[in-house]
Amino acid sequence: MIEISPTDRVFILTGAGISAESGLPTFRGEGGLWRNVRVEEVASPVAWQRDPQFVWEFYSMRRRAASQARPNPGHTALAALERALGNRLFLCTQNVDNLHEQASSHDAVHMHGELFKSRCERCTLPPFDDTNTYEPPASLPRCECGARVRPHICWFGEVPFHVDRIYRALDECTLFVAIGTSGMVEPAASFATHARSRGRTFYVGPEEPANASAFTECFLGKSGEVLPELFRF
Ligand code: NAD
Repeated sequence: MIEISPTDRVFILTGAGISAESGLPTFRGEGGLWRNVRVEEVASPVAWQRDPQFVWEFYSMRRRAASQARPNPGHTALAALERALGNRLFLCTQNVDNLHEQASSHDAVHMHGELFKSRCERCTLPPFDDTNTYEPPASLPRCECGARVRPHICWFGEVPFHVDRIYRALDECTLFVAIGTSGMVEPAASFATHARSRGRTFYVGPEEPANASAFTECFLGKSGEVLPELFRF
């Protein structure tokens, strides 16, 4: 049980594990391969330059899978926490699915982008909603400026989105909870260490993450089972 006091400011970081019980595979578990390719090899600027069709096929597959997925009790518990804490909760997700939004979380910050958005790779038009799949024989999407349209995803080697806002919230939080994230993808893996200098840090997931030493305590179990009973305020 995690006690939340009336003055606590809570930072939640979610990773692929929170969506596992909704049927979306994590990267490092079984199913972390696609067509015998490691995800790092298709979710990268190098892959995009080499073969954009291949990259769009990967994201088309992920769009199809995510469009079938529904939130699980872990997502629902975090939406309830938002209703209870209001702006004392900051929800940061590494996930590109929209399950937090489907569960009625209103301000999830997607540091690695959003699966159902696309953007021009060249011009400054903002990212736009896009649920289409782009697979042969369909042609690849183009912006009105003529450049290619790419998934609105932070690929390996790119700078995550909303970094300033995230570090401000980390500086202000008194309680940090990471959920379903392996602690191997930077910069998110270092958030717990950053927060630990100011307050309590907790982890929720079936196994200890690689950065387990950064946590005050780890609650081992599936997030859909642990989260609904975890918080007291
Ligand atoms: P990861 O694949 O590296 O690690 C997943 C973690 O989830 C593991 O530590 C595992 O023990 C844990 N886990 C598995 N089942 C769980 C459950 N039922 N409850 C709680 N935890 C569970 O994922 P990551 O650390 O998020 O980082 C990899 C990258 O993968 C991120 O950038 C993320 O964008 C991306 N990703 C996102 C999705 C998604 O949007 N749903 C899916 C796969 C990967």
